[in-house]
Amino acid sequence: MSTPTLFFVDDLAEGVPATPTRFHQADPAAGQINVMDLSVTRGDGIFETAGFQHGHPMALEAHLRRFANSARILDLPAPRLEVWRDAILAAVAAHEPEPMLSAKFIMTRGVEGTGLPIGWVYVFGGDEHVVERRDGIAVVTLDRGYRHDVAKTSPWLLQGAKTLSYAVNKSVLREAARRGADDVIFISSDGFVLEGPTSSVIVRHGDTFATPATDQGILAGTTQASAFAWLEQQGHTTEYREVRPEELVDADGLWLLSSTRCAAPVRELDGRQMPINRETTDAMNAALLTRTA
Ligand code: PLP
Repeated sequence: MSTPTLFFVDDLAEGVPATPTRFHQADPAAGQINVMDLSVTRGDGIFETAGFQHGHPMALEAHLRRFANSARILDLPAPRLEVWRDAILAAVAAHEPEPMLSAKFIMTRGVEGTGLPIGWVYVFGGDEHVVERRDGIAVVTLDRGYRHDVAKTSPWLLQGAKTLSYAVNKSVLREAARRGADDVIFISSDGFVLEGPTSSVIVRHGDTFATPATDQGILAGTTQASAFAWLEQQGHTTEYREVRPEELVDADGLWLLSSTRCAAPVRELDGRQMPINRETTDAMNAALLTRTA
């Protein structure tokens, strides 16, 4: 990773006292976060990672909307999206240009006892996913341990929000590695396909492409939404619905999608070879890499 470019977002949310600046640049090498910040001590906050291809934002508005939705689910103050948007664009403009940049933006509940959220954005370069997009990935299915209706029955579990508590999302990758795989598809405890730890799932049968409906305690993927828009333009049928694990086994194509990775075809699922649609995958990735919405 190149040295990140860091901006703090000062006028970051509704109800936060007025600040002299909307945002400001800071030194990423200096200590910046209070040791009592609740993001550090409890993982209590939200984040997004948006891609910039040759300086062009990829679905930034969708990321900002999801950021606001995560804030709502966590009872955080509503972020002032116009300030966040300007801070993100300023941080990208201040970073040395590279073909692929990522902007990670974070809002925490702030230092314990203050009730004042803090936020920042950092931009870094590099595209680590070229090989995955081309050659595909080996994936294992793992039980998430929650029912598919958990967001409705137990909203306090925050399923469907993009929180800073990603230790589980990382530990499942270590479990995947122990099983000789690169990534994971979560299955609900009652047997529905959900999502990857950092990705959405698309499964193909014939000309129909399906993704698990987002009322099942999963994130609404910005990349999956862009992929569906492109697939519909190509004349394919797309569906948001409940997906059963058996449907993955006999699929004509299976992908994991996320912002900077775009579409990684699954070449192996739980040890079984899967078909890779080379032409569709390349065309989908070409569309995703140049998407603006
Ligand atoms: N699901 C989870 C749990 C994620 O963390 C992510 C992205 O990090 C996604 C899905 C895919 O979202 P996006 O395409 O907006 O990157």
